Amino acid sequence: MKYAIAVDIGATNTRVALGNSEGELLGVETFRTWDFPDPVKYIEKIARIISSLREKFKVDIYGIGVGTPGPLDVAKGEVLASPNMPFKRLEVVRLLKEFVDMPVAFANDAVAAAVGEKFWGDGAGVEDLVYVTISTGIGGGVYVDGSLLLGKDGNAHEIGHVVVDSQERLVCGCGGRGHWEAYSSGSGIPRFTKFLAERDSSLAEESQLARKSRIEARDVFEAYRAGDKLARAVILEVKKFNAYGFAAITNYYDPELITVGGSVALNNADIVLSGLEGDVRQYAINRVPRIKLTRLGANVGLMGALALGLGFEKKIPLR
Ligand SMILES: [Zn+2]
Repeated sequence: MKYAIAVDIGATNTRVALGNSEGELLGVETFRTWDFPDPVKYIEKIARIISSLREKFKVDIYGIGVGTPGPLDVAKGEVLASPNMPFKRLEVVRLLKEFVDMPVAFANDAVAAAVGEKFWGDGAGVEDLVYVTISTGIGGGVYVDGSLLLGKDGNAHEIGHVVVDSQERLVCGCGGRGHWEAYSSGSGIPRFTKFLAERDSSLAEESQLARKSRIEARDVFEAYRAGDKLARAVILEVKKFNAYGFAAITNYYDPELITVGGSVALNNADIVLSGLEGDVRQYAINRVPRIKLTRLGANVGLMGALALGLGFEKKIPLR
């Protein structure tokens, strides 16, 4: 039995776990990412948790696997200014090694999740696999012919930034216009709701949702279920943009299976995944893959980081 540390860096929460080569997570600790806006103090906090997990379980650690929101400079082991995170630059690999002196494997969070899916989820034995996360942002991880795609800087999967709105109504967190993430993600849905409410007063007048001072994605889904007119208009477009996004993925990578995770999808699968395969068929030239919710749930990224820490994915070695 081998043991490793898994670190799942998120825009909202950061999770650090100790797990084993059977895919069991023995101890998991969570803290709020924005409570540590200084990059050095942030990595120091992660290092303290790693030390306490080591002390508690008294096992030899093979390595540390890290999944983090991009964009990344994989060669340097750094996160560059990420749209939803407090840091301008986060030197993950250098600082972690300085604090805990263990080998580190480092990947984009959605890529890490795809690795988790490949080794411990529905992707086991599937050669052509895409994992899509619909969370604060939208991202993906891709296996083609059994090989993980990385790209020159490790960013071969920024699928959330494909243009889906020809009217280019919203600006994305990255600065681009009309990007999928700007409309259909956990951060995009509330902004899109406010935009439609301001543009169309007849929608806003008949909507309870429009009267809320602060709107979150979950409020929009809740209002949709209650039949709110504004929420209906928002979700109709969100679903259409999801179909464009998944059709692009289908055409680019020709996957056999797409698994979907991230809080927006996990909490609203009945709405987000309903009818999706049929909608994708309207826009894809390639045979439409099976599209299903990840069965690893909210742990998919952490499980992927664990697989990386155990050295399972040869294209992302420990160093
Ligand atoms: Zn973008």
